[in-house]
Amino acid sequence: QCKYFTKATDLAKWIIEKKIKVGSVVVDATVGNGHDTFYLAEKVGKEGKVYGFDIQDSALLNTKKRLVNNNVFDRVELIKDSHEKLDAYVKEKVDLVIFNLGYLPGGDHSIVTKPESTIKAIEKSLLALKKYGILLVVAYYGHKGGKEEKEKVENYLRNLDQKQFNVLKFDFINQINNPPILFGVEKKG
Ligand code: SAM
Repeated sequence: QCKYFTKATDLAKWIIEKKIKVGSVVVDATVGNGHDTFYLAEKVGKEGKVYGFDIQDSALLNTKKRLVNNNVFDRVELIKDSHEKLDAYVKEKVDLVIFNLGYLPGGDHSIVTKPESTIKAIEKSLLALKKYGILLVVAYYGHKGGKEEKEKVENYLRNLDQKQFNVLKFDFINQINNPPILFGVEKKG
């Protein structure tokens, strides 16, 4: 067992913990079962705002239930649309955007995030970030099409202008079974 270098999602939480405060504005670009949406909603408090995107009704319904049951739905806007249309809904600058690529756990494994829309959405997310804003992308890539998506996203992020962004990649390089990778981008001041 490890205590700190456990998995990409835990590393993402560390960063969220450090970055997000009461009053922050954040986007969960892939709501799924709402684990991140809920975590973020607690962190931003009543004064903050969480925008959550998903294309599946079941994901949004389960998430809404989770948020209502925990009394944090008041600061969340759930949007049934593709994250590539982020700019149509998010009109303010944001502190953080998170993506979890892949399929909905427990759902239809054939509905997955796709490279083209993911990259468009990442592009729009970077524009929406405030100075020192952070983009997190947790890339699961064991499924069909996942490796191609991960590679395209990595290639896109690798080519971001270093005058504008610092980009990093957390990859568990000694593990089998394609554990998820965390990409992180910080917009420079
Ligand atoms: N973070 C989630 C959780 O806590 O359960 C898991 C997210 S899951 C890996 C990926 C989600 O992305 C799925 O629920 C899927 O429906 C959604 N998705 C796929 N394509 C999308 C798109 N173009 N825009 C928004 N969501 C999308």
